[in-house]
Amino acid sequence: MNLLQIKKPSTTFAMPFRHRVVAGKHLLTNTEGAFVLLDDAEFRLFAEGTVERGSTLWTRLVERNFVRAEVDLRAIEERIRTRKRFLDYGPNLHIAVVTLRCNETCVYCHASRANMDATYTDMTKETAEKTVDLILKSTNPSVTIEFQGGEPLANFPIVQHITEYALKQNEKIGKTLEFTMVSNLSLMTDEKLAWLVANKVQICTSIDGPQHLHDKQRKLPTKAAALPLALTGEGASPSAHLAARHWIGRINDEYGKMGLDTSLYHVEALLTTTRDTLPLWKDVVDTYVSLGCKALFLRPVDPFGFADRSGGRVEYPRKEYLEFYRSAVDYMLELNRQGVQILERFAAIFLTKILGGEDPNFLDIRNPCGAAIGQVAYNYDGKIFTCDEGRMLHEMGDDTFLIGEVGKTAYRDLMGHETVRALALASNLDAQPDCVNCTYQPYCGVCPVHNHKSQGSIFGRMRESTLCAVHKGIQDYLFEKIASGDPHVLETFKRWTTVRDRTHFLQTCAL
Ligand code: SF4
Ligand code: SF4
Repeated sequence: MNLLQIKKPSTTFAMPFRHRVVAGKHLLTNTEGAFVLLDDAEFRLFAEGTVERGSTLWTRLVERNFVRAEVDLRAIEERIRTRKRFLDYGPNLHIAVVTLRCNETCVYCHASRANMDATYTDMTKETAEKTVDLILKSTNPSVTIEFQGGEPLANFPIVQHITEYALKQNEKIGKTLEFTMVSNLSLMTDEKLAWLVANKVQICTSIDGPQHLHDKQRKLPTKAAALPLALTGEGASPSAHLAARHWIGRINDEYGKMGLDTSLYHVEALLTTTRDTLPLWKDVVDTYVSLGCKALFLRPVDPFGFADRSGGRVEYPRKEYLEFYRSAVDYMLELNRQGVQILERFAAIFLTKILGGEDPNFLDIRNPCGAAIGQVAYNYDGKIFTCDEGRMLHEMGDDTFLIGEVGKTAYRDLMGHETVRALALASNLDAQPDCVNCTYQPYCGVCPVHNHKSQGSIFGRMRESTLCAVHKGIQDYLFEKIASGDPHVLETFKRWTTVRDRTHFLQTCAL
């Protein structure tokens, strides 16, 4: 490829576009998020403004609004409005940290856990009610309350109280409510499960891959009461992996018994990729498939919580992470070719924007990000943060992202808080020095909390950011695959952009 072959670049032919060479092709994206892949000859015609009117290339460029003389401004407006629809509502995701207590110790724990005897970190009933009252003030007609910890099952009465109180209060308000719980599952019992299923609380867990890796990284110091002896044997070491595997099976069985389609309704699990995970990409994918999971989120480790302290043991260069990512997703694509349904979440988020023209509203990869205007985190003691990551920094002694307290701060004051406004500015990619010219700007997102923690400024420097390296590397991979034109890959990618039905978990009430 020789860009110097462009003799006389036209300054009037093209609409504003961004350019990157991917897999030997010229990838162009524009403001509305349309893209086109051109070979050398096509790109030369485009850059020189000599594309023959009516040719196939002309049609491809006009359809995607790359030709200034033919631009459809209404279509651009409509597509940007569709992509930014999330700005019309308030925060949907409300994270309730019901306790910091946890019975597992994980090498990378983001939540800054406390020991099981630290009952002073349990949310009280009074704080729980004030939290719900504030959550229901959200201007968003749909609200998800996510129970987190620590381990939320360690303070199960408050999980129950928040759910019941929110449902009751909502009878006067009429929002669509959803409840989810992120749990390591090892404190689950039949009674708790029956209650969670009956009250439509979705359950999500963590699986770090095969048992030996999971148990090495997620230590269960005491044998989980809920783990049948048959799984470990009397006197055998407790296994966090076996506990999670056991309950995933049980929960999925319950959904089946209720007549729900288990290909749509099943436990989802989250992965945290550590240095030890990198060579095990195939085992990780196989573990998820064997558990009946349909999605795998290949999340790199974050610089928060214990991960910061044990960074030397769990961290790795992002180049190695991207090799891991490519191997794992290549394998997942091969499994899909054989009829196994498994998708990668990063890919699904980006592809929904790239191929679907929609924003899936994943709060950490959106523009601007979801800090307070998309999610709010409520700590066990009633302190309110822009997001769970901001709350994690508080546990590390940094209160930058503290924006209020339940019972004291009004909803309007939270949304208009100077920190919230600063984060919206810092995550606006149209103003980020590196992002503004990046080809992936229409699909990407930055994290001001990550920037603050890793680079000392909420604005950050993207060219040195590990998060940017991950986002760029993944989008390079996806566009390489799209450029290859393999019909099977394209069909699989399209399928990955389909939103999974979760109607069962939506709780509405007629006013
Ligand atoms: S600041 Fe970071 S963690 Fe918080 S919502 Fe924005 S992207 Fe997500
Ligand atoms: S974060 Fe990185 S990949 Fe994403 S738009 Fe900014 S510069 Fe591009």
